[in-house]
Amino acid sequence: MSASVPRLAAVTLADAATSPDTAVDPALDTLRRVFGYERFRSGQREIVDTVVAGGDALVLMPTGGGKSLCYQIPSLVRPGTGVVVSPLIALMQDQVDALDALGVRAGFLNSTQDAGSRRAVEQAFTDGELDLLYLAPERLRLDSTVRLLDRGEIALFAIDEAHCVSQWGHDFRPDYLELSHLHERWPDVPRIALTATATQATREEIATRLDLTGARHFVASFDRPNIQYRIVPKDGAKQQLLEFLRTEHAGDAGIVYCLSRASVEETAEFLTAQGIRALPYHAGLPAEVRARNQAAFLREDGLVVVATIAFGMGIDKPDVRFVAHLDLPKSVEGYYQETGRAGRDGLPSTAWLAYGLADVVQQRKMIAGSDGDAAHRRRLGTHLDAMLALCETVECRRAQLLNYFGQAAGPCGNCDTCLAPPESWDGTIAAQKFLSAVYRLDRERNQRFGVGHVVDILRGKATPKVKQWGHDDLTVFGVGEDLSEGEWRTVVRQLLAQGLLTVEGDHGTLLLTDASADVLGRRREVRLRRDPERTRARAAAKARKKAAPDVELSAEDTELFERLRAWRAGVAKEQGVPAYVVFHDATLRAVATARPASLDELGGISGVGESKLAKYGEGVLETVGV
Ligand code: ADP
Ligand code: ZN
Repeated sequence: MSASVPRLAAVTLADAATSPDTAVDPALDTLRRVFGYERFRSGQREIVDTVVAGGDALVLMPTGGGKSLCYQIPSLVRPGTGVVVSPLIALMQDQVDALDALGVRAGFLNSTQDAGSRRAVEQAFTDGELDLLYLAPERLRLDSTVRLLDRGEIALFAIDEAHCVSQWGHDFRPDYLELSHLHERWPDVPRIALTATATQATREEIATRLDLTGARHFVASFDRPNIQYRIVPKDGAKQQLLEFLRTEHAGDAGIVYCLSRASVEETAEFLTAQGIRALPYHAGLPAEVRARNQAAFLREDGLVVVATIAFGMGIDKPDVRFVAHLDLPKSVEGYYQETGRAGRDGLPSTAWLAYGLADVVQQRKMIAGSDGDAAHRRRLGTHLDAMLALCETVECRRAQLLNYFGQAAGPCGNCDTCLAPPESWDGTIAAQKFLSAVYRLDRERNQRFGVGHVVDILRGKATPKVKQWGHDDLTVFGVGEDLSEGEWRTVVRQLLAQGLLTVEGDHGTLLLTDASADVLGRRREVRLRRDPERTRARAAAKARKKAAPDVELSAEDTELFERLRAWRAGVAKEQGVPAYVVFHDATLRAVATARPASLDELGGISGVGESKLAKYGEGVLETVGV
């Protein structure tokens, strides 16, 4: 397979060579006329050409990389309708609205629509009047759908969120397995599968299960340079979040992820009480509340959604300025996909995660108590270990992330560890002290305790519990007074992260692992990370944001940008579509700085295609004050 895997340069940076002659280049012509973009991003060109020519493609590109165009343009260029399989039925209406604003004829078939509108879409398809048709995967199991597709002309099949076919990943959908039959049924129709989930294991599974081993594989760079990654030690997480929002993201749209429904509700209430507009979203809420909150997030500017991971798959909102995690994600894949929802528009954004000892204990406990066989638990453990390694690294977070996805990278200069490098220290002796306390309790006395008690013993605190158990007699009693309680918790967190210690049971009691013996036997050194001072890290992060190019609009341009946003909000409301369907922030910013004086000049701005120019051009010029 590797021979057919072209490595693409950073999708977000480089531009592909484009032919200036659009007359003989229908793909480029479509890109310019319909979408209003001047050139393909690197990667897109080859993918589009492959599919236009009737070839199959497997596309791995990060969120915001520009996957949609890779099937939308071939659907427009090839005769017939592009059939897009997507599990995200809640988003289909918005996707169709967005295409409608571009003058593209699109429709969807899913369980949310009434018989009348379904028939209208089916009719449009068989009459050859649709450029794109969105389908939920379960639709393809119906004979009626298959017969319908046979009555029209299919330009291609696009399989969006293709990682849903993989059991290794975290969004597995049984209906996706059926999609392997597409090419048996329609052998001449090209297929393009797309995903933002990038590990080698997932990719191979997608290729095999969708019968795409013979397809061309396009693997883009997974870097998202506009996202600043930060992972901070948890210390009063809600207050930390509040401060992060107030100092860096006041008035911005963003997502806050929590693990439990209860903490979702609590955090949303807390933010609301602090004057930040925040809505909860989790699977326990009634469907209509969820739909309403999601719609508000998509449609309104500057709203925060506090959610479990049930929220956000395929959220197309381009101007999500931050993604915050109040709990530790279960895997790097999940973390990368969730944080990837920030900054699709390429403007600076933040991925912020607060993480602490309790997270590690909780996740290890959850894995130990999870259903499923040993192999399943081992897999969960592997996922968690990778996530913990990311949290505890003293190296560049981005480099570590990209490495995880099999891509080499140097220090990025835009993550917390690059901006305020943490020191590492030789924690071998501290580790030995802690592990030997656990050893004495567990192996010599057959007693198991949680972190707090062991730290008390090491710090020589004769608490009632310590006295009750006679633990002030242990040789390790008081040998760890050199470290504060907080410092010990940091040590334990890292021992757990490195697998030198583990927890068990509902009370989170500590146990040694095989690797502990190497530390106790002085056969292994333990390097630990010293968390950087909070203030220093924050100052560095803020300074970097200010220094980012093209970010700060002048006062006058900001004023115009805000007026354009207000104009956009009015139009969006009137038409019942999300604001970004009218124009993206990036386009409005470009308008605010360029101040076009005519429709012609406006049409030259990125993101302004023929249809939007006709629909909104006058309104924009009026707002600019022409
Ligand atoms: P993905 O589906 O990969 O997350 P999208 O298809 O939503 O990404 O594209 C992300 C953003 O980039 C969108 O705002 C899209 O309009 C924009 N975009 C895509 N291709 C181009 C291009 N060639 N030039 C300019 N902007 C583009
Ligand atoms: Zn970095």
